[in-house]
Amino acid sequence: MKNPSDTPDPMDVLRKKLAGFGEHSLRKTYYPELQQRLEELRESEAFLKNIVENIPAMVFVKEAAELRFVALNKAGEELLGYSREEMLGKNNHDLFPEEQAAFFTMKDREVLSRGVLLEIPEETIKTKSGVNRIIRAKKIPLFDSSGNARYLLGIAEDITERKHLEEQLRQSQKMEAIGQLAGGVAHDFNNILMVIMGYSNILKKDLGIDSPQKEKLEHIIEAADKAAQLTRGLLTFSRKQEIKTRVANLNDVVRQVEKFLVRLIGEDIHLTSDLVTTDLLVKIDSGQIEQVLVNLATNARDAMPNGGILTIGTGLMDIEALFVQSNGYGEPGRYALMSVSDTGVGMDEKTKSKIFEPFFTTKEEGKGTGLGMAIVYRIVKQHGGFINIYSEPQIGTTFRIYIPLIENELAENEKVATPEPPKGGTETILVAEDDSSVRTLVQEILTGFGYKVIPAMDGQDAVEKFKANRDTVKLIIMDIIMPKKNGKEACYEIRQLDSDVKILYSSGYTLDIIQRHDVLDEGAELIMKPVQPLELLRKVRELLDRE
Ligand code: ADP
Ligand code: MG
Repeated sequence: MKNPSDTPDPMDVLRKKLAGFGEHSLRKTYYPELQQRLEELRESEAFLKNIVENIPAMVFVKEAAELRFVALNKAGEELLGYSREEMLGKNNHDLFPEEQAAFFTMKDREVLSRGVLLEIPEETIKTKSGVNRIIRAKKIPLFDSSGNARYLLGIAEDITERKHLEEQLRQSQKMEAIGQLAGGVAHDFNNILMVIMGYSNILKKDLGIDSPQKEKLEHIIEAADKAAQLTRGLLTFSRKQEIKTRVANLNDVVRQVEKFLVRLIGEDIHLTSDLVTTDLLVKIDSGQIEQVLVNLATNARDAMPNGGILTIGTGLMDIEALFVQSNGYGEPGRYALMSVSDTGVGMDEKTKSKIFEPFFTTKEEGKGTGLGMAIVYRIVKQHGGFINIYSEPQIGTTFRIYIPLIENELAENEKVATPEPPKGGTETILVAEDDSSVRTLVQEILTGFGYKVIPAMDGQDAVEKFKANRDTVKLIIMDIIMPKKNGKEACYEIRQLDSDVKILYSSGYTLDIIQRHDVLDEGAELIMKPVQPLELLRKVRELLDRE
């Protein structure tokens, strides 16, 4: 680290002081003492350096004139992904995206001109790998002996994970509160409904078969019945009691539900299922998991008013630490996976972000209660699992539900062998993906293993980027559903330029659904989202190595 303060080099000081003395007397009288002092100075400098270096927060120093970095500690290197060599001498604009750089510069200037400490509770900073982190920073001016602010000292802490947890906590507290409220109301309301239904039914009997009043009474009973359904939903949603779990094969539960789903979804919707042959032993409350499937299937039905395909699948899934790290949710371990896909209207981002909120519905009045997904969420959480949604307007929706497997009850031979760690490479890969967070994620995974990545934002961009880099690009990872040109269209054009280039499609939908939409070539290679880092790396290497 360069020395940011104005402390002169101790050796210089010493040399100046010694200049007037004769060699001889010097050695005799002063040298041992000075030698000792110098040693002490060196030690204390090393000590201070060591402290700064090891502070578990990013510490950096910029010079005041052009705000170039002159010092950075280890935590800073780790947070930003840049080495000291890459950072020192550069300023905000050399390192960070325009908007971020402008913000940092504004704050830096404010600290230096006002000469006071500034706290920035939350700011976003892009790391070398292209991921944004949220940091909390303090910036402090360092003055020289004449009182001018010469340097800016910064201390920053990565609060990305904390923000994420806070958000989750807020969400679960909100659910809790709403659940309590809804549960209380529903309970009393249910009793009232029992009275209405009870007396209506007695009246109906008393009235005799052909009373003209009977039809009106039927309406009352029908309405009360609907209200009872609604309260049942509320009660399920707010039910606080522990779930009653036992070991079951998730495949059995799915098969059980399938039987009556056919009736639920009607004739225009085709039901297909794709279950793994392995037993998926999980500790679940079967009734609750059935409820999850029913709620998902009901929504799928509503999303396909003109018919379509509903696919239910199961699978075995290893969630790696890298998956959790890069996707920002889940816990590492082995999971039973249950997926429900439809070819319905799909959802935009806004709807997707609200889907688990109780009472959120986009359905017309009287149709939706907005409780289905809130119940799904609660049940899955109670089972220690998590949910992933993939949806695109007009294409369809896939829900994936992960429930922890019970490991020790799996027979030894049913265990999936631990796969080999993936190999990296140095080839250039074009990544076409419209979702910027997925694109960054894939890019980060690949560059982390040595590959060079050219990102493209949509199908059109992919074609252009390929044109410009056709000699270096060895593989294209192509999202199937993208704006401007979809994956298949983009590939068609790219194949005109180079018929041999390797293409790996990626999609959040099940294969079945993709094929129905005719967006995939025969024999095409496909990787499913959410992206499993190790699987992606393996697949990429395999394709690159293929003749
Ligand atoms: P409801 O079905 O009563 O509206 P839910 O909680 O079940 O309540 O769903 C909330 C909202 O989520 C729905 O109104 C809809 O906008 C959206 N949604 C859920 N599942 C799907 C799906 N498979 N396809 C499209 N939209 C869906
Ligand atoms: Mg619903």
